[in-house]
Amino acid sequence: MTKSLSVAGEVDSYCTKCRMDLNHRIVSMKGTKPHQVMCLTCNTQHLFRAPGGAATAKTPRAAGTRASRPPSAAQAKLEQARADRELTWQKAIAGRAMGDFTPYKMSGIFEEGQLVNHKKFGDGIVVRIVDANKLEVLFQDESRTLAHSQAS
Ligand SMILES: [Zn+2]
Repeated sequence: MTKSLSVAGEVDSYCTKCRMDLNHRIVSMKGTKPHQVMCLTCNTQHLFRAPGGAATAKTPRAAGTRASRPPSAAQAKLEQARADRELTWQKAIAGRAMGDFTPYKMSGIFEEGQLVNHKKFGDGIVVRIVDANKLEVLFQDESRTLAHSQAS
């Protein structure tokens, strides 16, 4: 028993905008098959495309097409690390009050997990005390090693 499809019903279709299989609302039918569908995620209306790439059997792997070169594994790893770092940063910073951030000063003494505000780099969190005079602070773009406990 397959559930019968009809206009205003829902169907899985490949969304040409979201570029993935998503739930769509059927806008019009062609015989027993959906013709036009609307993506419930991005609200874009487009022609029905069977999910799973079944309808798009041709996946050109051969040369000749101006295929965008896939990023190298190393590059992908770097990207992933960057994304992870930013997520960690966002989690640490999210919902914090201004008062939770200690203005960064070279003469200050910091500890792991402390929130700091750097004049130039912005908000960050101390992720590691490197040694008595150095600490690693995670900022939005990257983590930096800063000095602390420096007599000024
Ligand atoms: Zn979509």
